Amino acid sequence: MKKVVCLAAMFFVAAISEELYAQKNKPQYSDSVPFNPIIRNKFTADPAALVYNDTVYLYTGHDEAPKGEARYVMQEWLCYSSTDMLNWKEHPSPLNVKAFAWAKGDAWASQVIERNGKFYWYAAVEHKTIGGKAIGVAVADKPTGPFTDALGKALVTNDMTKATSIWWDDIDPTVYIDDDGQAYLFWGNTKCYYAKLKENMLELDGPIQVVEGLQKFTEAPWIHKRNGWYYLSYAYQFPEKIAYAMSRNINGPWEYKGILNEVAANSNTNHQSIIEFKSKWYFIYHNGVLADHGGFHRSVCIDRLYYNKDGTMKRVVMTSEGLLKR
Ligand code: CA
Repeated sequence: MKKVVCLAAMFFVAAISEELYAQKNKPQYSDSVPFNPIIRNKFTADPAALVYNDTVYLYTGHDEAPKGEARYVMQEWLCYSSTDMLNWKEHPSPLNVKAFAWAKGDAWASQVIERNGKFYWYAAVEHKTIGGKAIGVAVADKPTGPFTDALGKALVTNDMTKATSIWWDDIDPTVYIDDDGQAYLFWGNTKCYYAKLKENMLELDGPIQVVEGLQKFTEAPWIHKRNGWYYLSYAYQFPEKIAYAMSRNINGPWEYKGILNEVAANSNTNHQSIIEFKSKWYFIYHNGVLADHGGFHRSVCIDRLYYNKDGTMKRVVMTSEGLLKR
């Protein structure tokens, strides 16, 4: 009995402290400011959203460089949730790069996915001993964490991919589970790589392949599917626009379809997450409008995404009003 009371008290305290944290860290909008960017008390970058149980969980990087410093300082990831896409609640940071003991630093772009009640977080970091960027996997029982290193080593390291000789080609993982249950990991810089994942989500299942047919691929692949079409959107050129390709098969061939989103204001990079939530499609990205100089202090924004009758996507219009548009 004592144990039950004690456990109940612990859950109560945990719930209260999470609530207090959320109140203290009110991320976003009031009627007096535009909707975009949606988070104004911290710099957030590289959004990746997960729809789970009628809630959207938004995971972002955290630009922490001191004001005026033009460099990436990113050591932790952030997590927000919403049930209406308008009001966002901040959760305590569920993952720090220190969770990966084999990593040197750099909490770069990532994505979280759910499988069999567990949440798997694929994240790009710098490898301590192998060198170059690498992709790690963290796991949790809840979408808000806490997450721990699932492997104790990297899932992908720089020496596993050689389609380009750069040391930063193993970044920006995006993960997708197809309707038949097969999971895929896509990632890359300059070259877009992909591989199957085993059902445990912790091992590659087969060779790493290069995606062909993407024009001017820079980084930031994102896979989604709608009405039998696979969409591979990605950062195009530099400064980055977002472009996309479509295919009837996730293994390709991919047909390039053009620009989806222009260069974001005051930011050399852009990074998109595309989700359907309550029958509407959303395009989540970042720009640099809350910072005095572009690129290293970014902020997540959301606008609606629309399709043409033939399945192609209409160009996303970045707006200040965002989802408050009438
Ligand atoms: Ca490599």
